[in-house]
Amino acid sequence: MSDLYGQYLTMKEEIDTAIQEVIRSARFVKSGKVNDFEASLADYLKTNVVSCGNGTDALQIALMALDLQPGDEVITTPFTFVSTVEAAVLMGLKPVFVDVDPETFNMDVSRVKQVVTPKTKVILPVHLFGQCANMEEVTGLAKEHNLFVIEDACQALGTDYFFQDGSLKKAGTIGNIGCNSFFPSKTLGAFGDGGAVFTDNKELAAKVRSIANHGMKAKYEYERIGVNSRLDSIQAAILKVKLKYLDKHIEARQNAAAYYDAHLKGIGDLKIPARVNYSTHTFHQYTVQTEKRDELQEFLKSKDIPSVVYYPKSLHLQEAYQHLGYREGDFPVSEKLSQTVLSLPMHTELEEEQLEYIVRNIKEFFISRKGAKTQG
Ligand SMILES: *Cc1c(COP(=O)(O)O)cnc(C)c1O
Repeated sequence: MSDLYGQYLTMKEEIDTAIQEVIRSARFVKSGKVNDFEASLADYLKTNVVSCGNGTDALQIALMALDLQPGDEVITTPFTFVSTVEAAVLMGLKPVFVDVDPETFNMDVSRVKQVVTPKTKVILPVHLFGQCANMEEVTGLAKEHNLFVIEDACQALGTDYFFQDGSLKKAGTIGNIGCNSFFPSKTLGAFGDGGAVFTDNKELAAKVRSIANHGMKAKYEYERIGVNSRLDSIQAAILKVKLKYLDKHIEARQNAAAYYDAHLKGIGDLKIPARVNYSTHTFHQYTVQTEKRDELQEFLKSKDIPSVVYYPKSLHLQEAYQHLGYREGDFPVSEKLSQTVLSLPMHTELEEEQLEYIVRNIKEFFISRKGAKTQG
């Protein structure tokens, strides 16, 4: 699915040097390397950046920074990674789901209005697989109902969002707060865990920084309840090197996606990922849909081609979240997608030969299936 070692080899000298510098400095936590990386990422995103331990912490810290009350409601989608819902529940908040769009996998914003209550405080869209949710609609609704917007941009670092007035912002810098993950397989991946919170608001950024550091104001002075969540110096040093290549890496993913698009269009019932005009797609995942998903995955496996189902079970059906009171059938699009989606190998080191092998086998699968059907 990815080739993290192959990618490392393309930057080996710089990364090795950066790691050695941290070891030599013996400042493994809170060194200048962390500040340097935060400043570089802030410059790339044109916003304030506070690093933290991982993307899940970023979501929790974002929720903590908004002074929400237990029972306050957070509107998000059930077709995503568990972190969003987990962080909300841990904070005593109530996740309220809306279904996703069947083409983009992102929040179907037209459904949000129906679930807004006096307790609603936050809309939390996830930019799934690298393409933004419709943020102009989200921020419009948020304004109308006086809600905060937290973006889960963990899969969309570097994605551009285009506003109708022609302006442009990076994913994660549009709402009040954006959350990111540097998990190794993410678009900007560390060699371990890492995360960050983004916000244009300087005061909020200072608050986020304090929360991520035990609620500290000055040494051994605590102004609020916080957590211990930090990016360590080695990860920051690695990320600073990798950030230089982020746009190049995104381009490599987009080229692989263009190859898949060109060769997989119109085959059987296979649906290639939809694109929207308000966002670029940075392809954290290249996710197709087919009714024959399980058979296709089996077939690809027999040809040594990896593929993964993101996500096989909608969050509203997970055992841990039954107390939210949802049932099967409540989110038919998410439920259907969990049966039909398949993510193909997608990374920066994919070679044309590999792509050719993958698409050839996918075509072969659909041709053989079609033959079997007409004969039967
Ligand atoms: C990866 C991811 C997270 C969590 O990030 P971690 O760094 O693994 O905690 C949250 N939300 C989404 C959508 C993700 O893809």
